[in-house]
Amino acid sequence: MSQISPTHPHKLEKVEQWHLETDVAIVGFGGAGGCAAIEAADQGADVTIFEVAAGSGGSTALSSAEIYMGGGGGTRVQRACGYDDSTEDLFNYLMLAQGDLADEERIRLFAEGSLDHFDWIVGLGIPYKDSEFEGKAIVALTDDCLLYTGNEKAWPFCEIAKPCPRGHNIEVEGDNGGPIFMKIVTQQVESRGARIEYNARVLKLIADEHGEVFGLVVRIDGEERNVRARKGVILATGGFAMNQEMWSRYSPTIANRAVPIGNPFDDGSGIRMGQGAGGSLLHMDQSFVTIPYYPPASHTFGILVNSQGQRFINEDVYHARIAANNIQQLETGESVYLIIGEKNWQQPNMLGGEIETAGDEIEEIAEDIGLPVANLAHTFNHYNTFAAKGEDPLFHKAAEWLEPIEPTIAAVDITPGQHGIYVGFTLGGLETKTSGEVLTMDGDIVPGLYAAGRATCGVPRRAEGYGSGLSVGDVTFFGRLAGGQVARRERG
Ligand SMILES: Cc1cc2nc3c(=O)[nH]c(=O)nc-3n(C[C@H](O)[C@H](O)[C@H](O)COP(=O)(O)OP(=O)(O)OC[C@H]3O[C@@H](n4cnc5c(N)ncnc54)[C@H](O)[C@@H]3O)c2cc1C
Repeated sequence: MSQISPTHPHKLEKVEQWHLETDVAIVGFGGAGGCAAIEAADQGADVTIFEVAAGSGGSTALSSAEIYMGGGGGTRVQRACGYDDSTEDLFNYLMLAQGDLADEERIRLFAEGSLDHFDWIVGLGIPYKDSEFEGKAIVALTDDCLLYTGNEKAWPFCEIAKPCPRGHNIEVEGDNGGPIFMKIVTQQVESRGARIEYNARVLKLIADEHGEVFGLVVRIDGEERNVRARKGVILATGGFAMNQEMWSRYSPTIANRAVPIGNPFDDGSGIRMGQGAGGSLLHMDQSFVTIPYYPPASHTFGILVNSQGQRFINEDVYHARIAANNIQQLETGESVYLIIGEKNWQQPNMLGGEIETAGDEIEEIAEDIGLPVANLAHTFNHYNTFAAKGEDPLFHKAAEWLEPIEPTIAAVDITPGQHGIYVGFTLGGLETKTSGEVLTMDGDIVPGLYAAGRATCGVPRRAEGYGSGLSVGDVTFFGRLAGGQVARRERG
């Protein structure tokens, strides 16, 4: 048993000296930690952030910082662009997106608080232009703000909630939202006089014999220091995709087929600290995974087939839903192909898939790639027949993406784990109340311990229902709530 194992809290009775005291100790200075710090400071708490890296940012700074917001008649940007988004549509959409894993209370709070959250974020100084990016893209590379970043327009989502774009992209050219977002958040934290310790790796929590958390042990300048948190500790350490052993243990289906994205400290240390202090873990098997299927949007005119030569999804869904479904196909088969007409196959693209063969007849394509000829021919001909009428009776792809696939026909191998660029990060983590208090397996709170962001299991819980902006939306929204909750806490 290692002396510095994060899963073994240091015993309060063994603390001989407090090297530093603060009301609120926040572990990690990414999106969740930064927003928690701002809110805790605004509620009068003395705040200290401990960040292992040499600067703030975490994965939030690496991201596009698209944030998923709406409802309540629309954010300022939505209204300016002509959308009167409703809270019920936002709620219903998110509930269907998260499926069996949906946390209704959390989603309700997120949906009902979304407009206020937009105003809070704008109040920090985050710039959004009152304009819409109308293309189908992962992120707007213009400085436009509003874009569709999920499955809103695709079946079955469009049937239960009126489609509305909710991805808010920061006013900056290129994919540069994350650095700007974290620069502004950092300035806001600094302006509130919060203490920030960089190059400070938190090693473990300090708890008493009843499990109440009183502080943490941090290594600064090579020395271990005991920090007393008078009100509580917030774990905002991000996810664990960079810990390959941990990711593969909990979420092998995705971890074994995708490249992790994030910062190097996405190693699960905060999750393990919380677990060691009695915290329960939730949906650790769930990860975001994607393949940049678009841009170019023209790839949407193709069809995806499995090793039985059958389609399995409407190809106009969000890219992570495609990636997750591609991976599911491997449960019963060995391969996934994009079948696409020459006209709509564009290069360069980010798919990373190889054209395995191309030709004029679907039968010769099937033979070349080793799929059952009659099956693929039937799938192809059935699709083309109905696509010519603007219909997709099997999977309900929207009419705007339907047209017969014309020769030359290409088969692009995007079998997960073999071809195609699949990337991912984790969605499971500590189980918390919506207010950030970490819960035990029995549903009790761990006194003095809070968590937010990808160290927790939040609103986004599965790749099939992910949409860009849900993670930064979640980390900022619930980071704020956790910061406020701990700031109001009086130790008993
Ligand atoms: C390329 C990319 C693009 C993305 N784009 C989007 C997007 O546009 N919209 C969206 O919603 N999501 C996006 N995501 C996902 C999103 O960025 C993250 O899920 C989210 O930002 C995580 O926020 P966080 O605050 O939980 O963690 P982080 O921002 O990673 O912050 C955690 C911090 O904790 C620190 N830390 C970890 N362990 C310790 C320790 N023991 N002691 C001290 N400090 C520690 C880390 O160094 C880090 O700074 C993207 C992710 C990537 C990688």
